[in-house]
Amino acid sequence: MNILFATAEAVPFCKTGGLGDVCGSLPGEVAKLGHRPTVILPAFRQTLNAGQPIEPTGIFFEIPIGQKQVTGQLLRSLMPGTEVPVYLVEQNDYFDRPELYWEDGEDYRDNCERFTFFCRAVLEAIPLLDLQTDLIHCHDWCAALIPAYLKTLYHERPPFDGIASLYTIHNLAYQGNFWHWDMALTGIDWKYFNWRQMEFYGNLNFMKSGIAFADAISTVSPTYAREIMRPPLSCGLEGTLQHRRNDLFGILNGADYSDWNPSADRFLGEYTYDVSSYEVGKPACKAALQKLMGLPARADVPLLASVGRLADQKGFDLIARVMQQWAEQNVDAQWVILGTGDPKYHQVLGQLAADHPQKMAVRLEFSNELAHQIEAGADMFLMPSQYEPCGLNQLYSLKYGAVPVVRATGGLADTVVDTQPETLAAGTATGFNFSEYTALALSDTLHRACEAYADKTVWKQVVETGMKQDWSWSQSARRYIEVYDQTRARSRQEVLH
Ligand code: ADP
Repeated sequence: MNILFATAEAVPFCKTGGLGDVCGSLPGEVAKLGHRPTVILPAFRQTLNAGQPIEPTGIFFEIPIGQKQVTGQLLRSLMPGTEVPVYLVEQNDYFDRPELYWEDGEDYRDNCERFTFFCRAVLEAIPLLDLQTDLIHCHDWCAALIPAYLKTLYHERPPFDGIASLYTIHNLAYQGNFWHWDMALTGIDWKYFNWRQMEFYGNLNFMKSGIAFADAISTVSPTYAREIMRPPLSCGLEGTLQHRRNDLFGILNGADYSDWNPSADRFLGEYTYDVSSYEVGKPACKAALQKLMGLPARADVPLLASVGRLADQKGFDLIARVMQQWAEQNVDAQWVILGTGDPKYHQVLGQLAADHPQKMAVRLEFSNELAHQIEAGADMFLMPSQYEPCGLNQLYSLKYGAVPVVRATGGLADTVVDTQPETLAAGTATGFNFSEYTALALSDTLHRACEAYADKTVWKQVVETGMKQDWSWSQSARRYIEVYDQTRARSRQEVLH
């Protein structure tokens, strides 16, 4: 099967979150199973500066955007370590900017125009590059107009008539919701601007369009697939999703162990470790992290960490409140936080670190190297998310022996087993879960985790059970192939939605 991955992010070209990780790994895994993936990305400044070899194809094209004709160029690269071709859509007015989607807390005002152009460019590239595509795997709102184009402007036009589309929701909260007049930019007939297809409370909605028009839809964990059927996690799209419920699949993301593996992690220097040597390696990584972050070098104190986008979704309000309370109560624990995002979290977390330098260290930046070092040095990894479509950090944490403390939602509920007498007896306990979204529930669960930490036998069992688990891509990639087959079968039936 020839599969074209249309996405805004793919590691190592560009990444702001899990989308980049998934689209950097899945194409290579699909290739290992004997299929032929190709990846297509916008040529963001970050993408062009990622240090990958990139060459021009000499292929230029023009796309009508409203009343304008906009020219783009296709560039070529490869997924490192594979034969997977990567094409970049170059259009410097749209993509050569300091950030991908927004700057200084504000979305770029022409995001609709930028990603309309990208979606059409993906389709135009297929004949220009002679890609022989069987299925386009479209990721998140930035690629969501592709299924709409296939069923409208490009319908029954060779070579597009035989192409199926799978639309994957990585995060339903980011929908690409725009002023209705932006519909004119797309070139799609206004008759599709209706409540079942592209219109959402008077706006043009990319996410809804993808869900309405794709031959099948998937999201990144079975629990999130259920949660998005109802408010509040349906984010207003429950009607559209329930209409497509028989075409919706939940497939867990995998972890890329070639990148996230404590026994071969290039960022750990001489202190790499695995499940047989972590009792030596992990304390060394913890000491190195304490030194790096300016915290007292103490082996006995539990080191609690979190890495992530500083967005409401991720539960940093709960973390900040518990940090404050524990500081007031003088609870003996160290905290390491790495993240960037909402200025209000920069302020509150920065202040906490300034007030309690012996206990708290905060880095307000994006640092892949430090993210790896934190997984290796932390005793516990916190993810008290309001919602979490899949979550990757908890998978990395399991492998690094940084016991995950999570709110049981989405993929976190699917991958972390709470430590209880029964799960300890069954040998399945890998972390600590709680349900209620409150600082009290997080604090209680962290106290529970700290008690377990003090019991060497229990802690050893929980750490080792997690480290031995396999959350690699191989199983999920096989599941995607099954879903690709089912998507193509649905496309052939030409289901009218
Ligand atoms: P999401 O996609 O919602 O951001 P995930 O848990 O699926 O969340 O993936 C987040 C990815 O981004 C992980 O690989 C994580 O390590 C990385 N990440 C997030 N913030 C930072 C940061 N400030 N520095 C380094 N890596 C980060």
